[in-house]
Amino acid sequence: MSAPPPTTTAALLVAAGRGTRAGGGIPKQWRRLGGLTVAERSVRAFADHPGIDRLVLVLHPDDIGNDLWPGGPQADIVVGGATRSDSVRAGLDALEGAVDRVLIHDIARPLVPPAVIDAVLAALDTHPGAAPGLPVTDALWTGDDGAVTGVQPRANLYRAQTPQGFHLDAILAAHRAHGASAADDVEIARAAGLSVAIVPGDEANLKITRAEDFDRAETLLGDKMPDIRTGNGYDVHRFGPGAHVTLCGIDIPHGRGLQGHSDADVAMHALTDAIYGALAEGDIGRHFPPSDPRWQGAASAIFLEHAAERAMSRGYALANADVTIVCEYPKIGPHAADMAANIARLSGAEPDRISVKATTSERLGFTGRGEGIAAIATVTLIAR
Ligand code: MG
Repeated sequence: MSAPPPTTTAALLVAAGRGTRAGGGIPKQWRRLGGLTVAERSVRAFADHPGIDRLVLVLHPDDIGNDLWPGGPQADIVVGGATRSDSVRAGLDALEGAVDRVLIHDIARPLVPPAVIDAVLAALDTHPGAAPGLPVTDALWTGDDGAVTGVQPRANLYRAQTPQGFHLDAILAAHRAHGASAADDVEIARAAGLSVAIVPGDEANLKITRAEDFDRAETLLGDKMPDIRTGNGYDVHRFGPGAHVTLCGIDIPHGRGLQGHSDADVAMHALTDAIYGALAEGDIGRHFPPSDPRWQGAASAIFLEHAAERAMSRGYALANADVTIVCEYPKIGPHAADMAANIARLSGAEPDRISVKATTSERLGFTGRGEGIAAIATVTLIAR
């Protein structure tokens, strides 16, 4: 038996509406939701889906040629009609003979999950139509003038979503035969006698209609956006009498030491401040006041461990840290690996995410004259 010919599928997105109830003074599909317009998000949901071969975007005549649709994923633009049904029909006409199946989607459902698209596509293998629905779980009332007048049985009731998928020839014929307006394309398919399978919808696949829907969509989107923070730190300590310097917790023999309230580990201070900075929690001085004698001569590991613990308790992992030590002497290179390993141990980060490196300042400035050591650090925290 030979394999069946490959099936081609288009997504038809209807963006010709003028609805402004969602606020912002412009049609809702052109309002921004997390940096992209609602229309861009809806189009991307299908452009990024491996089961979609072609995209058609139906626009209002007034929106053709303005800058609202920036292009983005490749979509064929079709001019919409006076009603939603007219606009869908225009899109279907443009697809005639081009694909086997079509998924018709409301542009105002920008957060459609890939699994919903998967389910509609799968059901079209065995049905001429398929659409996502959610069983009604709330009790349903009828009401008049603010008072309940009756209770409506909810058995077998579903809330309809999109994309509504169809075999192209079947839905095109149904649209051409259907004169009256319709709530959606399932109604038009049913009027033509097509069987439409119900597949599981998703609460995230909300339709943006009112202003509060925008807030809900922002919240849903925020839950999916990566929460990444970067921070920087800078510190300087001057040389004084001593026989070693401590950098990133490693003692390096040297003819002088670094002066400071604690062990003067300039590199670990810069790194610790970078973590506090990423958390927007100030710096070492705020958490460990120099006026407090408890921190006199303290090993700076306690500062780093505290900052790392703050990050962890707020749900962040140390994605990476990069520390640069600026000095002419001592030579850092031979100790850099030990320093990085020590930082990884203290902060709980993977060793390959910690970088310690050094540079001179070409004998210029205070570091060049050997008066002290400077260090800068950058960290990235990522929410787990
Ligand atoms: Mg310091």
